[in-house]
Amino acid sequence: MDKNKYVGGLCYDEYDENNILVQRFGPHIIHTNNNKVWNYLSKFTNWFYYHANVLGYIEGKYVPIPFNLKSVEYTFPKHFSDSIKQAIYYDKNYTFKELFDSSYSQLNKLGSYIKENVFVPYSEKQWGKPWINIDKSLMHRVVPFRANYDDRYYTAKYQAVPMCGFSKLFSNMVDSHNINIMLGVDYFNLPNIAYKNLIFTGCVDKLFNYRFGKLDYRHINFKHRYFTDEYKQSTGVINYPKDFDFTRVSESKHLTNQKTKGTVLTYEFPGNNGFPAYCVDDKENKERKNKYLDIVNNTKNLYVCGRLGNYSYWSADEAVNNALSLTDSF
Ligand SMILES: Cc1cc2nc3c(=O)[nH]c(=O)nc-3n(C[C@H](O)[C@H](O)[C@H](O)COP(=O)(O)OP(=O)(O)OC[C@H]3O[C@@H](n4cnc5c(N)ncnc54)[C@H](O)[C@@H]3O)c2cc1C
Repeated sequence: MDKNKYVGGLCYDEYDENNILVQRFGPHIIHTNNNKVWNYLSKFTNWFYYHANVLGYIEGKYVPIPFNLKSVEYTFPKHFSDSIKQAIYYDKNYTFKELFDSSYSQLNKLGSYIKENVFVPYSEKQWGKPWINIDKSLMHRVVPFRANYDDRYYTAKYQAVPMCGFSKLFSNMVDSHNINIMLGVDYFNLPNIAYKNLIFTGCVDKLFNYRFGKLDYRHINFKHRYFTDEYKQSTGVINYPKDFDFTRVSESKHLTNQKTKGTVLTYEFPGNNGFPAYCVDDKENKERKNKYLDIVNNTKNLYVCGRLGNYSYWSADEAVNNALSLTDSF
C-alpha cells in the first residue's frame, strides 16, 4: 500500500498538461557503482545515459560544481588559475583541510573562496541553520575541489535516467500477478490490519508514535513553472548558494532528453514545513533513530526499508540496495 495515489515515491514523475515529463520531487538521476542495483533496475527499463553537469550561480557567473579546474578558469584571472595549476596534484579530490593545510597560499585562497561562496551559504540555506551549528558529517558526500577538468557532478560507473521515466520503471516493477497494490491508503488509517510480515517504508518515529521523540527532517517545497521557450537553462541543474530563497532550479527536459515545445523549471525551497526531504542525520538524531531501530530489530515479522524507515540520507541506489538486501534475507 502507498499513501500516495501513485507509485515511485520521491522519484515520481508525470506528464503535465503540456505533455512535458516533470520530476515532481526534484531532479533524479540514478548514479551507482553497484552492479546488483544496476542490473536489477535494468530489468524494468531502458536507459537514457545522462551525466549531470551542475552549475553554481556565483557572483553573477555560472560556474561548474563541484569546483574543478574549469571553474577556477571561469572565476579567477589567468595568472591566478595558472598558479593553482602549478600547485595541485592533478586529478586529486581535495578536502577543505588539504586546501587549507597546503603550503601553497593559492590553494588556501581557493579553499576560502569555495567555502565562503559555495559551501557555507548553500549549506545554511539547505539546512536552515548558521554554518557553525551544521553537523559537518551531513556534507561528507560533497567534494570541495576536483583538480581536473571533469565537470560531471557524479563520477559513478552507471549514471542514467529511465528512458520512459521513473514512474514507468516502478509501475513495471510492480506489474505482477503476485502483487496487489492499494494506492492512496495510509498505513496509519489501518492500524489493526493483519499481516504475516510488515515492511514499513514511512517515518520510523511515527511508526512508534514518537515514543523517543521526533526525528528531525529538512523539508523542501517544489514549485514548477512552465515556459514557452524550448530550453530555459544550459544544463539540468543550477545551484543558487547565495541569491534567492531557492537552492536549486532544475529543468527536467535535460534529464529526460524529451524533445517538446516549451519547458518546465522546478524550484526547490528548503524549509521546516511541507514535505520531509532530508533526514538530519546528526549525532542527536542518530541516537534517537537507533532506539527506534532497536525496537524494529526486536519485533518479529516487522521490517523497515528505505530512507524514511532507516532514517538515512540515501541516494536511490542505496535505497534499492537496502530493499534487495532485505528481501534476500527472507
Ligand atoms: C530533491 C531531491 C533530489 C534527489 N535526487 C536524487 C538523485 O538525483 N539521485 C538519487 O539516487 N537520489 C536522489 N534523491 C534521493 C532519493 O529520492 C531517495 O533516496 C529515494 O527516493 C528513496 O526511496 P525510498 O523508497 O526509500 O523512499 P520514498 O521514495 O520516500 O518512498 C517511501 C514510500 O513510502 C510511502 N509511505 C510513507 N509513509 C506511508 C504510510 N504511512 N502509509 C503508506 N505509505 C507510506 C510513501 O508514500 C512513499 O511512496 C533525491 C532526493 C531529493 C529530496
